[in-house]
Amino acid sequence: SKTQVGFIGLGNMGNPMAKNLIKHGYPVIASDVFPESCKELQELGAQILDNPADVADKADRIITMLPSSPNVVDVYTGANGILKKVKKGSLLIDSSTIDPAVSKEMSVAAEKVGAVFMDAPVSGGVGAANSGKLTFMVGGPEEEFNATKELLTCMGANVVYCGQVGTGQAAKICNNMLLAIGMIGTAETMNLGIRLGLDPKLLAKILNMSSGRCWSSDTYNPVPGVMEGVPSANNYQGGFGTTLMAKDLGLAQNTATNTKTPVPLGSLAHQIYRMMCARGYASKDFSSVFQFLREEEGQ
Ligand code: NAD
Repeated sequence: SKTQVGFIGLGNMGNPMAKNLIKHGYPVIASDVFPESCKELQELGAQILDNPADVADKADRIITMLPSSPNVVDVYTGANGILKKVKKGSLLIDSSTIDPAVSKEMSVAAEKVGAVFMDAPVSGGVGAANSGKLTFMVGGPEEEFNATKELLTCMGANVVYCGQVGTGQAAKICNNMLLAIGMIGTAETMNLGIRLGLDPKLLAKILNMSSGRCWSSDTYNPVPGVMEGVPSANNYQGGFGTTLMAKDLGLAQNTATNTKTPVPLGSLAHQIYRMMCARGYASKDFSSVFQFLREEEGQ
């Protein structure tokens, strides 16, 4: 039978990801600072422990799915962090979206205690996490890629090797910058069409058979009533939080500054998502930029 896998961070994404590991026959040992998040997984038979160190004491393969860089630093190197009790030869896979420089730091810290750290951020959203169809972008030692892939294929349809540690994050940050730009573009386009008297469903249908089509228009439409099963159909609850998108755009800005790369639209998207965070949209799904734009026009 399969050996146990540790999972830390059972939020919107971690919860369905860990469920898919269980579905594939892996006993899961999990931990989250917010006990409520562990309930569902516990009912499915996962063992819940108090902190990441205790998980590392039991499992020699651990996946982390946390909000941002400081949480990852805490979970790996904090007083009750993974590296306090990690076993030699352990494989540590971080699927959070964080600063590539922090991934490199975690990799160095892991190496010092004889463990291997890989960055493996995901794309696809909560729907893809549920159906096991995420895309993983993996950075780290190539000789560890197959062992990493064995676990990630339980949760994803695509597992892509990107290069040395941090390159998975680089790919992810680029994707999310484009996603934000596409979402804002879709929201303002849909709003303009509605103001011009078009039915939103019809407009979405036309965009999706035309050259304006994108993921935000055909899979995650931001306008309530256009699609079912997406956050816009549920008052923008669940999904991918506006705070998290603002964080990813901030990461894109940092890397663009460091590499002297012009990213004017990425920069504007960052400012828009930061304004949303300050105006009550922080915990709503990032497609709520549609609602934000409607308010801006004073309706
Ligand atoms: P989330 O906020 O829903 O979940 C994060 C979980 O981590 C929470 O349950 C929280 O309690 C837990 N946590 C925080 N600090 C912890 C600590 N020190 N120890 C243990 N647990 C801790 O976030 P999410 O939507 O699941 O996203 C997780 C990561 O995946 C983020 O980096 C995000 O950018 C990325 N991501 C999210 C989506 C999406 O659609 N939601 C898609 C792709 C990537």
